[in-house]
Amino acid sequence: MPDRSQILRIAIPAPLRSLFDYLPPPGIRPEQLVPGKRLLVPFGRGQRCGILISVAPDSELPRNRLKAAISLLDDEPLFTPLDLELLQWAARYYRYPPGEVISGALPVRLRDGQPLAAVKPLGWRLTELAGGLDAAALARAPRQAAMLEFLRERPDGASRAEIRIAFGSCSKVLQSMEQKGWVVTCELEEKTGTGGAPVAGPVQNSGQRAAVEAVTSRLQGFGPFLLDGVTGSGKTEVYLCLIEKVLASGRQVLVLVPEIGLTPQLLRRLGRRLGAPMAVLHSGLPALERERGWNQARCGHARLVLGTRSAIFTPMPQLGLIVVDEEHDLSYKQQEGFRYSARDLALVRARLQDCPVVLGSATPSLESLHNASTGRYRHLLLPQRAGGASPPAIDLLDVRSVRLESGVSPTLMRMLGEELAAGNQVLLFLNRRGYAPVLTCHDCGWVAQCTRCDARMTLHLEKRLLWCHHCGSQRPLDDRCPECGGTELRSLGQGTERLEATLARRFPGVGIVRIDRDTTSRRGSLERLLREIRDGKHSLLLGTQMLSKGHHFPDVTLVGILDVDQGLFGADYRASERMAQQIVQVAGRAGRADKPGRVIIQTRHPEHPLLRLLLREGYGAFARAALEERCETHLPPYSSQALLRAESPREEAPAAFLEEAAALAYRQGGRGVEL
Ligand code: ADP
Ligand code: ZN
Ligand code: ZN
Repeated sequence: MPDRSQILRIAIPAPLRSLFDYLPPPGIRPEQLVPGKRLLVPFGRGQRCGILISVAPDSELPRNRLKAAISLLDDEPLFTPLDLELLQWAARYYRYPPGEVISGALPVRLRDGQPLAAVKPLGWRLTELAGGLDAAALARAPRQAAMLEFLRERPDGASRAEIRIAFGSCSKVLQSMEQKGWVVTCELEEKTGTGGAPVAGPVQNSGQRAAVEAVTSRLQGFGPFLLDGVTGSGKTEVYLCLIEKVLASGRQVLVLVPEIGLTPQLLRRLGRRLGAPMAVLHSGLPALERERGWNQARCGHARLVLGTRSAIFTPMPQLGLIVVDEEHDLSYKQQEGFRYSARDLALVRARLQDCPVVLGSATPSLESLHNASTGRYRHLLLPQRAGGASPPAIDLLDVRSVRLESGVSPTLMRMLGEELAAGNQVLLFLNRRGYAPVLTCHDCGWVAQCTRCDARMTLHLEKRLLWCHHCGSQRPLDDRCPECGGTELRSLGQGTERLEATLARRFPGVGIVRIDRDTTSRRGSLERLLREIRDGKHSLLLGTQMLSKGHHFPDVTLVGILDVDQGLFGADYRASERMAQQIVQVAGRAGRADKPGRVIIQTRHPEHPLLRLLLREGYGAFARAALEERCETHLPPYSSQALLRAESPREEAPAAFLEEAAALAYRQGGRGVEL
């Protein structure tokens, strides 16, 4: 008989800030009721899948009002007590219903009660039919030929991770080979993961050695580190070395990156160097594949997890190190629904699991630098490029009263022409996608505005759309003005689409590639474009901040940053920090030892003190000055801010709510809180 005196505290996905009490399901022994298991429970008029958080002796509700859970769904817990603690901490700190947070940390299928899939990694192997094939006969399909060769060397099959490391995204290739009956999926017995013997790295320089030693001397407990090293200074080598050591000690490692698509190089590097079973987790994966990776991490088969922000919640029972690469990156913040910062949660998790956490960046966030200067983080510096390449020269180009062509000044245009003529690659950075940020009517002055949020609509000519970049709403482009019916619609300002069109006219015959959300929205397209750049198919690279992340383009000799001025005077107090980070990150994408890079920044404010400081003395000096400003103006990290935001399709409700909240706050206030 189940012990009816036990009360189950269950997290249920529902917009309520509490756990729910139930009686145990019939026929269950008390020792089966372990936190972290899922239960099917009656909820409202239906049923929901909840997660057991704890077993308590009593409830605030009278016993006769409690319902019994319907059934226990798992034989083993899906979360450890520490996982649950982290999730509950996050729910409390970020003010979000705990049931939603905890359920949301499960792979999609598991959220609605389906059973766990098999843990063995799924892979591909050749069929007998493929045995007699001649790779040479596949000359017209070189990727299939390469895959054939690759799988031939692995008669027991190759894991998906292994294949992805060797080929990038190649589901199409496998699909067509599967249709021809040449390959089939298979379960893999052995913990392959990456395949091949690990390759040794370069000999560390003294900075790297010091950084590695600082962390390794503290591997046994919680310790936060800020690895502050210019682009190319060898931060990734430091991560690799630490990861090797932690893996060798039998513990697991979690590596967070801003965007997986931007890190194929890192993925390959980890695979080649570590030869440990690895799981890759991000939202672009098919659900089942993601679940598999999640489950492998959970039961310890995967020793290394590489993932984007949501991977911070992956259960890893033997976690021994967390690395957050490019810790300053905004994509660590989830900006809607359950809002959280994966970077900040990495620290909470490391403290809970008693392990070191390494935040790395060439342009650390001001908060992290502040934490380093107050001694909360150990500050590890790598001031020089490791490979011998010198940092690029950065120059300001004053474009006051200069006629720009799609945002490009004649001087920069001439320099572009020279580099292209010399056979070099150039990179142009414009942080605005679409064709133009404003569409207006020449006859009546109408401006296309979003009907949902009042922001201006951005013109996307290729898709024939007006698109609000603020709230995401879209509508088809009309050839006529909705106000006066006039047909003289004009676009103002620059977006990457227009820049591309202009450059294609100016430099006919030159390979141009544009990288922004629009050109990379399809799965695998970013990898393809990056591969084409590496193979030298394109000489002119243009794009948004996506181009400034993660990737190194060694053949680029000239980088043009078209518009930094919005960063100098933005309404957001973080605008100048973002601007500086982008300049340094974009600049760091280019050049190598024999072909140094040069960076040109167009600005109408060449005298701006922070901009000058950044160029003269570098990011560290800029950051110190910017922090001083924040201190004088009592802005974070020298104060804390909370944002209370209300949204509704009707205007009155949020206004009334906010006013009531403000009145309440005033009444309670007086403790140094500004409203
Ligand atoms: P970061 O992550 O800081 O951008 P990486 O670790 O990617 O830097 O290193 C940049 C380049 O320098 C890579 O090509 C890497 O192989 C090389 N490199 C790193 N450390 C060393 C070293 N100690 N000796 C020689 N080359 C190195
Ligand atoms: Zn009009
Ligand atoms: Zn809008």
